[in-house]
Amino acid sequence: MARTRREFLIDSGLAIGAAAVGSSFGACSGRAADGRYDLCIIGSGFAGTFLGLSAIEMGFVTVILEAGSKPRREGTAGTLSDSFEFRSTGGLRYPVNGTRAITVGGASVHWGGVTTRLWPEEFRMRSTYGRMVDWPISHQDLEPYYCRSEQLLLAKGHAPVPGAEPARACGYPNEKNEPYEDPRVAIEGKETAYFPLAHSRRGGNFAVRLADEEIPAFEVAGRGTLLADRQVIDIVTLDGKTIDHVAVRGLDGSSESIHARAFVVAAGVVESARLLLISHSSWFPEGLGNRHAQVGRYFNVHPSLQTSFEFRSDLALAKAHHRTCSLNDDYRLEGLNACQYQLDVLASGGGRWKAQPETEPAYENHVTLSSTETDRFGVPLPELNFDYTDLDRRTLERNYATLEALSRELAAPGTEIARNDRWRAHPAGTCRMSESEQTGVVDRHNRVFGLDNLYVSGASTFPTSGTANPTNTVVAMTLRLADHLGNQLG
Ligand SMILES: Cc1cc2nc3c(=O)[nH]c(=O)nc-3n(C[C@H](O)[C@H](O)[C@H](O)COP(=O)(O)OP(=O)(O)OC[C@H]3O[C@@H](n4cnc5c(N)ncnc54)[C@H](O)[C@@H]3O)c2cc1C
Repeated sequence: MARTRREFLIDSGLAIGAAAVGSSFGACSGRAADGRYDLCIIGSGFAGTFLGLSAIEMGFVTVILEAGSKPRREGTAGTLSDSFEFRSTGGLRYPVNGTRAITVGGASVHWGGVTTRLWPEEFRMRSTYGRMVDWPISHQDLEPYYCRSEQLLLAKGHAPVPGAEPARACGYPNEKNEPYEDPRVAIEGKETAYFPLAHSRRGGNFAVRLADEEIPAFEVAGRGTLLADRQVIDIVTLDGKTIDHVAVRGLDGSSESIHARAFVVAAGVVESARLLLISHSSWFPEGLGNRHAQVGRYFNVHPSLQTSFEFRSDLALAKAHHRTCSLNDDYRLEGLNACQYQLDVLASGGGRWKAQPETEPAYENHVTLSSTETDRFGVPLPELNFDYTDLDRRTLERNYATLEALSRELAAPGTEIARNDRWRAHPAGTCRMSESEQTGVVDRHNRVFGLDNLYVSGASTFPTSGTANPTNTVVAMTLRLADHLGNQLG
């Protein structure tokens, strides 16, 4: 039976103080006696923290290494975040630093909490539409993990709207009781079904921030250690088959090696690829998992197109964020990328239409290492080469036209329809999951091809982005990886 979030947090952290049952070390202090951990996780964002909590719940002595700091007391200063610059070399300047946070808890300090799922066909793009790639796993493989993820994220939503959002085997843990008023706006003459966005909510209007409860729960347990202000600068193999340790630098320049039985890179989309690329050796001259030049490739994002306007006076729409995916199939059958549309009815009385199209994960869009610039530890900076493909450009053009038509339908006569283009903080790709090392970096269990005990977790492993915001899928895949590691390490 699925466990509640409270049971999970209590078991994994708050109630642990005894021996590490099931661990090969039986240690009850955070660090194993011989300095070797069961599991070493790089990054304390959603992917790293929920994996850490699952691991200690299973009895594994676990360390999370985090380059960012804990909230600092007054008078203390300094951070490693200046090691995390990047360079752009393509036609588009994607603002990487605005889409992440080098801090304990990662981007959870900024995220908006929208908790959505991918559609089943978004795992089978090539077999359904003949374009892009299929994922090696299916929606069905993730369904139970989506339910657990929504528990952990404290997702609050209305009862699922059939046909408007992906089918679900569970309700939201925090179901809203009031009936949902579907605004029924037609798109291109087609009556569409809307669903209200589910949000992660911990008290009032705040989304789950990991540093508030989850990271303290991890640390309070005897088996969990969080080492902040530690930048991993190398992942080291001594035999070309297994990872022995990672090399770490502290804020003060100090060095240490962290040994473990298994390692998981959960460092975000750009930094996970950078770490694999900088960790080269005679066995992997181009970087770990990169024998077929796949690391860093297939970077993709969600552009955000927006129009804002004043509503017609005869419309009385409920204040909410309404989302529809009704045009996905039409667009995909026309050979375009899919897009979800969102109508925000604002408290001010104004309205906003937003489109969030997926971009094509093209091989040319990639993260690589700078040949000239390094960070404070002499580690090459990452370079992002990114531009739209022809398919992306056609999709965006079509989306603009639809957004403007939709806005004219709802806007008061004579009002200006303002256009505003932004980026969503949803980067993906660079370490994609695939059936083979010729076409990707990790296998269907997130294990890096060619290595027995190295894994990657996070949106970097997504083969495609689909139309959903990523975090629910990041956490669901992380919980699936935790089950796999439980079998491997247990
Ligand atoms: C403003 C904003 C709003 C968002 N809103 C939403 C939303 O509403 N819904 C949604 O689904 N998603 C949203 N997102 C995206 C969401 O935050 C991310 O998908 C999610 O946080 C990714 O988690 P992660 O653990 O994979 O990566 P991250 O949170 O980026 O964590 C990676 C961690 O690794 C650390 N790290 C990196 N390199 C190293 C190294 N070498 N050594 C040690 N540590 C390292 C970093 O410091 C960081 O803490 C939003 C993001 C932003 C920025």
